[in-house]
Amino acid sequence: MMKKIGVLALQGGVEEHINALLNASEKINEPVQVVEVRLPEDTEQLDGIILPGGESTAISRMMERAQLFEPVRRIRKIMGTCAGAILLAKKVEGAIPGQRFLSLMDIAISRNAYGSQKDSFEAALDTKFGKVNGVFIRAPKITMLAGEHVRPLAFFRQEIVAAYQSEGERHFLATTFHPELTTTKFHEFFIKL
Ligand code: GLN
Repeated sequence: MMKKIGVLALQGGVEEHINALLNASEKINEPVQVVEVRLPEDTEQLDGIILPGGESTAISRMMERAQLFEPVRRIRKIMGTCAGAILLAKKVEGAIPGQRFLSLMDIAISRNAYGSQKDSFEAALDTKFGKVNGVFIRAPKITMLAGEHVRPLAFFRQEIVAAYQSEGERHFLATTFHPELTTTKFHEFFIKL
């Protein structure tokens, strides 16, 4: 059956993820149906969902307003980039008071850890899928992988910039950079899950 993958479409890099998913699906010859998720009913029968980058404080407020926290939390496979990785992490440094998270993944993450918008940069990364260029936009840092189920997928110098957690039927993938802008490798990996 054709896989159905959602992209949380409240704010941030939605279009880029949709395109990356479609390109990845073509490359690996595995058809996917992509669904833009704005309402709880959009999450029905999703095999996975992507939480794009953007501004995690805004995305979390909008998710709360749309009552999306519980329905999204139930989706078994979740990929989060940048702000999306922040939403996935169990421990967040630099959260604003009252900010809500999905708190599903056994990682600690620190918001805006490279500085402000002007400190955004692009760099060559060593990844499980070979060399990839990574774009970091007011990116967070993964400061800890906690537990036996989570492992690194990509490095910038010594720092872990992507992590993957697999535990039973649940799979989480977090990147602090924006793979959707430069590569389809991470989307291919996610589709194959
Ligand atoms: N700095 C943003 C935040 O804390 C994340 C930036 C991004 O997603 N590109 O939500």
